[in-house]
Amino acid sequence: MGTSTRKKVLVFRELPPDQLARLEAQHDVTVANPRLPEQAAAFHAALASAEGMIGSSYPVNEALLATAPQLKVISSVSVGVDNYALPALAARGIMLCHTPGVLTETTADTIFSLIMASSRRLVELASHVREGRWTRNIGEELFGWDVHGKTLGILGFGRIGQAVARRAALGFGMPVLYHSRRPVDVPELAGKATHAPLDELLRRADIVAAVLPLSNETRGLMGAREFGLMKPGAIFINGGRGATVQEDALLHALNHGTLRAAGLDVFATEPLPMDSPLRTHPKVTALPHIGSATFETRHAMAVLATSNLLQALAGERPVAVFEAAGS
Ligand code: NAP
Repeated sequence: MGTSTRKKVLVFRELPPDQLARLEAQHDVTVANPRLPEQAAAFHAALASAEGMIGSSYPVNEALLATAPQLKVISSVSVGVDNYALPALAARGIMLCHTPGVLTETTADTIFSLIMASSRRLVELASHVREGRWTRNIGEELFGWDVHGKTLGILGFGRIGQAVARRAALGFGMPVLYHSRRPVDVPELAGKATHAPLDELLRRADIVAAVLPLSNETRGLMGAREFGLMKPGAIFINGGRGATVQEDALLHALNHGTLRAAGLDVFATEPLPMDSPLRTHPKVTALPHIGSATFETRHAMAVLATSNLLQALAGERPVAVFEAAGS
């Protein structure tokens, strides 16, 4: 193959070796993770000539894009695109690809795990055993609350929200309410999942699970007013993006309101700062952003992201170009 078609590619988060090999077979690849101090300089140097970038979990803002004059395509190894300056990408005509679909079921599993763990106090009770405190039969001070049959409110009813709804409605007999800007017709959930305005959902749901993308509209969506509308003893789960929740308001609802528990996979600042009260709060089950973190799914995401990038650099239409939904 002639070398003229080889392009400069910047990999800004580790890729599995088989996917890196696919890229290296066709292009000149620099691997540099800007989050690692020893690789940051190489990352910024490579931006000057990069035509394609692939990675995730790093803010690609307007200032950074200004240092990448050759850039034609970014392939994100994520479905969420809140790390990218969308208006600046549009203005420059830079294509953005992402990984929808391949992580849907795994992320729904994570969210349902948080629902189960929060309601049945699984982490707290597993610690009870591990720490040698199971010395007699537990009493009602350690009982949990049923999940089956409870009303689940889902904020964000896209691919993942619907996958959570299937688990809840078809597996656990849970009536589902959902909030999104437009009602969605999901035949297998007919009569089992109902579109509702935000306030009505918050008032009626026993468990509220957020699976929202982060946007100007959803930033801080769950605040003091919204937590105040939730049923006494309700549980809040966040598997979307941390900044859709005002964390001070969540803490206040846990400490002084009637919120029973929270299960959180995502936080406004990640990794969660050591001094965040959410880290050790007795009513909080906190996970380190593991929604899609299984061997199978992380590999499938890398395959899709690599294919997207290779297709874009070849002048073809990639499988998964991010298209902003009309608001
Ligand atoms: P999706 O299919 O695009 O679904 C997004 C949903 O949010 C849609 O139902 C959309 O409906 C709704 N929505 C958007 N803006 C809204 C608003 N202002 N008010 C109410 N609803 C709104 O995306 P997905 O694949 O399900 O992923 C959802 C998000 O989950 C991602 O963007 C990502 O941030 C997060 N995520 C987290 C993890 C993790 O590791 N925890 C893993 C994967 C994804 P309308 O457009 O009709 O409003």
